[in-house]
Amino acid sequence: MISVKTNRELALMKEACRISANALKVAGQAIEPGISTKEIDDIVRKYIQKQGATPSFLGYGGFPASACISVNHVVIHGIPSKKQKLKNGDIVSVDVGAFINGFHGDNAYTFACGEISKEAQALLDATKESLYQGIAQAKAGNRIGDIGHAVQEYAESRSYSVVRDFVGHGVGAKLHEDPSVPNYGKAGRGVRLVSGMVIAIEPMITAGGYQVKVLDDDWTTVTADGSLAAHFEHTVAITPDGPVIMTIPDI
Ligand code: MG
Repeated sequence: MISVKTNRELALMKEACRISANALKVAGQAIEPGISTKEIDDIVRKYIQKQGATPSFLGYGGFPASACISVNHVVIHGIPSKKQKLKNGDIVSVDVGAFINGFHGDNAYTFACGEISKEAQALLDATKESLYQGIAQAKAGNRIGDIGHAVQEYAESRSYSVVRDFVGHGVGAKLHEDPSVPNYGKAGRGVRLVSGMVIAIEPMITAGGYQVKVLDDDWTTVTADGSLAAHFEHTVAITPDGPVIMTIPDI
């Protein structure tokens, strides 16, 4: 069932989204060669808890950390680890959500660790832009397929691939709500968007093929061909004035 939020609920959601965005920013500021992904996770968890919020991901479906931290060919759901130290040239996807006031926020960003290759930077730039192409279609009267189509067209026109096995989603009182928001599809197809819907748009784009596999830990999702992957996400409200990105940091 798709939940349509009232203005009061949207106002309450702002706080969860603001804290999620700030936590992501804090994570990005901590990224440097030598730091472990566990240390970044600790920074994220402490930040969220200090704001009086709860990390949405901690314990979700048994996930053992507050942030998913996915390095290089890891697409999503990387589990932070003391043993994994970041290196110069890594690309580091951080996905984080916060829960407060009865609502979740959800966002992700792929950061550069030190100096990254031109190819890696191009993938980051294209993935981020594909997210904004998708957001531009998140308008009342459009359909879910318009979003995925815009993301896919942009990414594939640059010879990148769009991951199919994982998609965006509604966000609200639950972290993952209906509808599913694929990053691929046909324009004019799928659920019609109405004001008050809140969705996480989150393209996962690879430099190689779109196939992914989940490792034995049941979380870590990698590109099947070992190619680099990037992931950018915003929580977006559909309003009478057009799409409103809710996960904007204020620190
Ligand atoms: Mg999400």
